[in-house]
Amino acid sequence: MDISTAQHALKQYFGYDRFRPMQEDIIANVLSKQDTVVLMPTGGGKSICYQIPGIISHGTAIVISPLIALMKDQVESLKANGVPAAFINSSQNYVEQREIEEDLIHERLKLLYISPEKLLAPQFLDFLCRLHISFIAIDEAHCISQWGHDFRPEYTQLASLRLRFPDISFIALTATADKATRNDIARQLNMKDPRMYISSFDRPNLSLRVEAGQKRIEKIIHFLRDRPNQSGIVYCLSRKNTESLAKKLRAAGHNAMYYHAGMPAAERSRVQESFIKDDIPIICATIAFGMGIDKPNVRWVIHYNLPKNLEGYYQEIGRAGRDSLPSDTLLFYTFADVMQLREMVGDSGQSQLQLSKLERMQQYAETRTCRRRILLSYFGESLGKDCGNCDVCRNPPELFDGTVIAQKAMSAIIRSSREMNKSLSAGMLIDLLRGSRRIDLVRAGFDQIKTYGAGKDISYDHWQLYLQQMLNLGLVEIAYDQHNTFRVTETGKNILLGKNPVNFAKLSQFKATPSTKTPT
Ligand code: ADP
Ligand code: ZN
Repeated sequence: MDISTAQHALKQYFGYDRFRPMQEDIIANVLSKQDTVVLMPTGGGKSICYQIPGIISHGTAIVISPLIALMKDQVESLKANGVPAAFINSSQNYVEQREIEEDLIHERLKLLYISPEKLLAPQFLDFLCRLHISFIAIDEAHCISQWGHDFRPEYTQLASLRLRFPDISFIALTATADKATRNDIARQLNMKDPRMYISSFDRPNLSLRVEAGQKRIEKIIHFLRDRPNQSGIVYCLSRKNTESLAKKLRAAGHNAMYYHAGMPAAERSRVQESFIKDDIPIICATIAFGMGIDKPNVRWVIHYNLPKNLEGYYQEIGRAGRDSLPSDTLLFYTFADVMQLREMVGDSGQSQLQLSKLERMQQYAETRTCRRRILLSYFGESLGKDCGNCDVCRNPPELFDGTVIAQKAMSAIIRSSREMNKSLSAGMLIDLLRGSRRIDLVRAGFDQIKTYGAGKDISYDHWQLYLQQMLNLGLVEIAYDQHNTFRVTETGKNILLGKNPVNFAKLSQFKATPSTKTPT
């Protein structure tokens, strides 16, 4: 099977003339029966990466998706384009399911969408094993990983699929996964030497801005004054808040509605439709709003509250400016939100991870370095320069040459791992740099490392803020899957080797809220 067959199918079934840059490589990899991991932002065109191979391969492709509503939409639009596709899930009655099974037996379907629960029901799995399956696609694959931000226990059972389908290749797709999550997806699915395709997450047309959360309503009204009749979304943490905010905006003369998961389904789809049709420009919503909405001209997104993590934040602001035209985002940051989110994390088995992710979110809000660099480095991408389209770039802080400070910290990280075979958490690293007599450090022999005490002249709190900048600039990264320890990135290594200098923001310009970070 070659790529020109794929190209032909793209034109025939979707009416498009050419693939987007990464789609072609991904499709070629799937067609060659290799395992594939795809990380592409929402709207990037992931579906075609498995739909086209499904259409042109022999047999039926299985598409696993947790979102029953989206499944139905996708299948309907495929059918409308002439692609024999179906979905099967618990919402259907016996007769409907029987009919689909009949179609599958006679190889009348190219794509079968299915929920993980249905797929893993033992009888159905036995049935599928007797069919001719071309490959298995796992959509929203971050749900399989506990390092992801939307872990779903029913997804973990997909790990057993490889045993049942040893000769069939997998393609896992997601729009949100940091490095630990990506690797975990491949591991959980027992992928064989998978190729990873990571498309750029950069959305240069989105401006980024953070403001203090005091007098939010006034600030929003002021923001709207410059943007008459533009479409936008205000994300709030609570359902009640969406309602009261919409009311206040209406009182101020704006055509705003609210949306949350507590509303009747009919009411929800009515609001969503009005937004898509531009009848109502402003929606105050919880994060339940926006999934699967393909509206190109959303001009702005406001976060009334701090999101739980950068994955969610990036997905939500990503709903603006799909048409590539300049669009604005504004995040309100209050300490009260941080406290509330910390409480919500509670004592779940995931709490440590969620707290680390919340801390990164908070660092993003507090940073004095280019915000886009932080976002991209969080997703494992390096921008290499400041973006010029965030509030920090527009109003830059005073900088100084931080190369030597950065080198000390990175040298300590690398020496500990090389000489002591130990990875360092933030607290350990700072204590080592400051030459602390902490008993566990000394006992483990860290005081023998050359960089021990090399950062004595800098206080503990300042080290925290410098490490935060190094993290934000992408010189180091945190391995959530290894007790939140530090690793030096390629960008960092170049600075350590003296190839590039690095600038830090002067600390006098940081908002001091160190009380939130407990040294460990
Ligand atoms: P994702 O699943 O990554 O969020 P979709 O698969 O829904 O993205 O694709 C987003 C939009 O881009 C859809 O409207 C889709 O039809 C369109 N699209 C995908 N691939 C192409 C292409 N090669 N040329 C033009 N449009 C495309
Ligand atoms: Zn910037």
